[in-house]
Amino acid sequence: MLLGEIRQEIVRVCRELAAAGLVVGTAGNVSVRSADLVAVTPSGLDYHDMSPDLVGVHRLDGTQVDAPLQPTSELPLHLAIYAGTDASAVVHTHSLAATAVSTVADELPAIHYYVAIFGGPVRVAPYATYGTGELARNVVAALRGRTGCLIGSHGAVTIGPDLKTAHTRTLYLEWLSELYLRATAAGKPRLLPPAEIEAVAGKLARYGQRHIN
Ligand code: 13P
Ligand code: ZN
Repeated sequence: MLLGEIRQEIVRVCRELAAAGLVVGTAGNVSVRSADLVAVTPSGLDYHDMSPDLVGVHRLDGTQVDAPLQPTSELPLHLAIYAGTDASAVVHTHSLAATAVSTVADELPAIHYYVAIFGGPVRVAPYATYGTGELARNVVAALRGRTGCLIGSHGAVTIGPDLKTAHTRTLYLEWLSELYLRATAAGKPRLLPPAEIEAVAGKLARYGQRHIN
């Protein structure tokens, strides 16, 4: 199967997102770019019914290569992100806390050093109807210099050099959004200065265990 391992990984990540409660029903979509091809989830298919052969493969202009079902209605968004950023994977969800923040804020500010994971305060892309080129343009603009953004009254998007990274960022963005909701409900959270976020971004780049062969 063309891009077999990638299509399998997409199914696995979709199941994990569903199990974690980060997607409900058929909300959200996932894609991975490999050279000039994109593997992307089909539209309106419950994640429990997804299998690798139902994950579509398209060219970067959207034309289909091996796709038995209609691609996600957000295919324009995924393709615009691949055209406008250096991402190789995109995860879009309607996870609850992130979506809640997207309805009340224009930006998720630097209330915690984890905003450095996203390159700084997380922007909220202005609302536009789902599946439109306008929404895709708004999201690409909100992602400038960032690895994630919220979409006004809609949800969240994270990107990465691979699907594992983009998926992990989805979890951190949801955590950060939940933190924002709790902190703002309790009071007025203090903000960290941009220089500190920049320093932490450098430190996080060296964070964690290096793989030793
Ligand atoms: P699809 O089922 O077409 O992927 O749409 C879900 C969604 O999140 C639209 O924004
Ligand atoms: Zn959506």
